[in-house]
Amino acid sequence: MNKAQIQKRIEELRAELEKHRVLYHVHDAPVISDEVYDSLMRELDSLEREHPEFDTPYSPTHRVGGEPLAKFKKVTHDIRQWSFDNVFSFEELTEWEERNVNLLKKEGIEERPTYVAEMKIDGLKVIMTYRDGALVRAATRGNGEVGEDITENIKTVRSIPLVLAEKVSITVIGEAWMKKKDLARINKEREKEGLPLYANTRNLAAGTLRQLDPKIVASRNIQIFAYDIEGGHFASQEEELQTLLDFGFLVNKDHKVCKILKEVQAFYDIWKEKRNAQDYGIDGVVIKVNERKLWDALGYTAKAPRAGIAYKFPAEEVATKLISISCQVGRTGAITPIANLEPVLVAGSVVKRATLHNEDEIKRLDVRVGDTVSLRKAGDVIPEIFDVLKDLRPKGAKEFVMPTKCPECDSVLVRETVGKNQSAAWYCKNSDCPAKHLEGLIHFVSKKGMNIEGLGEKIVEEFRELGLITDQASIFTLKKEDIAGLEGFGEKSAENLITSIQTARTVSLGRFLYSLGIRHVGETTAKDIAKAFKTIGAISHATYEELIAVEGIGEVVARSIVDFFQNKSNQDMLEELLREVEVEEEKRKGTQKLAGLTFVITGSLPTLSRDEAKDLIELYGGKVAGSVSKNTDYLLVGEGGGSKREDAKKYGTKVITEEEMINMVK
Ligand code: ZN
Repeated sequence: MNKAQIQKRIEELRAELEKHRVLYHVHDAPVISDEVYDSLMRELDSLEREHPEFDTPYSPTHRVGGEPLAKFKKVTHDIRQWSFDNVFSFEELTEWEERNVNLLKKEGIEERPTYVAEMKIDGLKVIMTYRDGALVRAATRGNGEVGEDITENIKTVRSIPLVLAEKVSITVIGEAWMKKKDLARINKEREKEGLPLYANTRNLAAGTLRQLDPKIVASRNIQIFAYDIEGGHFASQEEELQTLLDFGFLVNKDHKVCKILKEVQAFYDIWKEKRNAQDYGIDGVVIKVNERKLWDALGYTAKAPRAGIAYKFPAEEVATKLISISCQVGRTGAITPIANLEPVLVAGSVVKRATLHNEDEIKRLDVRVGDTVSLRKAGDVIPEIFDVLKDLRPKGAKEFVMPTKCPECDSVLVRETVGKNQSAAWYCKNSDCPAKHLEGLIHFVSKKGMNIEGLGEKIVEEFRELGLITDQASIFTLKKEDIAGLEGFGEKSAENLITSIQTARTVSLGRFLYSLGIRHVGETTAKDIAKAFKTIGAISHATYEELIAVEGIGEVVARSIVDFFQNKSNQDMLEELLREVEVEEEKRKGTQKLAGLTFVITGSLPTLSRDEAKDLIELYGGKVAGSVSKNTDYLLVGEGGGSKREDAKKYGTKVITEEEMINMVK
């Protein structure tokens, strides 16, 4: 090849590689394999090496990361980088719109703005400057006026074009983020190396872009969603997003053009629910006035442009003050320290108390009364203290000392360690401890226990205070006249409660055993024991040796069961209870028709409750799992149940109805 041909080939290769970069990193639709892509890249690289006169800093070969920097240069942004104000409710959002509409009217503009709602990605803002179509600078936001020059790092990011299709001079704003699975992977590696872990995807994105060695950045799979262009003339935000896409930037496709704020609210509500299922962290929705000409008319407050607003999701992590620590006695006698907190809103509900689990956890956190603590909802339900802001600790705050006596019955507490990896807890060993009784009763009637509908925690507590129920058996002697007229009960609701108590009189052995609340006997263990011993009589007389012979039953569980049935007050309780309830013997099934099959249940079934369906499947030897995976054989569906259906599609899992499942065991 002559010089001109070589130059032509180099240019063609660059164009081809750019085309495939967009297909792969922007549209997620590659048409050539990674190997082919790599070989094109190698060809370009070797041509550039042989002919350095044709090399440019914007060639895709320079994405691999250059030499490490000693430190970042400071750069002053051409245009000040603002961030939007926040709102936390629809009311506040509406007020924002009203203020804007009034302001526009004053300016003589009658037009009402429309909006683009975009995801507020929990990442790091980056500002990329293109001159004549080439990426010349990339910077962090910094304080809005001065940021850090991270050009070499951004050049390694595959979703960012190094050269634009047009020779324009613009500044593109984007949010850098990392995938949750990359966070997990990188933290795992760091754990092995004894390095500190990244707390979340935002910290990881920020930590990655502030690496002085671009090669590390290149290895980390950082993503950037572009969402704004400064410079250039656009009629609307919508048009800007489309232009970014046309230029080969990655644009988050989950944005929506909304005529009115109600549509924005609907979009917000959907994403509030869906956000945890995304690859990236989302902390709200950004709403921008779509019409660019209105931006100028609206102008700025002292702190932010008026034409946009960030509508934040309810915080999932907040700080609050620890007022006191009290101790609760559980059904098994375990003493749980509870943090009483200054009430605070977390993920949409007010939290006043959080469990501190046990003495070891208090020591691990080194949490003290008066401390300011970080709180989050673990698994979206149970509030959990995960950090203590020690700089804010009041002088003289003392370490918490666990009580030596039961707060309910004054018995001396005993410290016990359960299982191999479990932590130690303090226990009240008094079998007549009133706290254990109450918790035991609540457990007894619970959904997975005797499943007495309408007899919730509060009502059990109230009935017990009134002396209406004293123990498990007494529940079955309740009469309608006892209940009707009590606060919250009329004739009808009293009758309903009595009916559900009557229904609960017949119970499967596994459920019954579980409902007794024997320490270490959970739902699964109870079922295993029921299968092995068939009757309650056999279980109550089983020896330690007989029990540990059952698969899945360990020493601790066996010992606990023997202790329970040897206890005199438990024996009395059981004797009385068995006069009231009929425990169905565990039948030996001729066939294990569902053996080896795994089911997942979703939606509401026409006749069976979810628990009943589970019982039935397990009775015939099948297994029930919580979520669909490649190991799931059947998805049993009722009405509703959206996301699991999609998972089933993904894994090719067979979807069946309740009727079909029942036919399988007939
Ligand atoms: Zn006690």
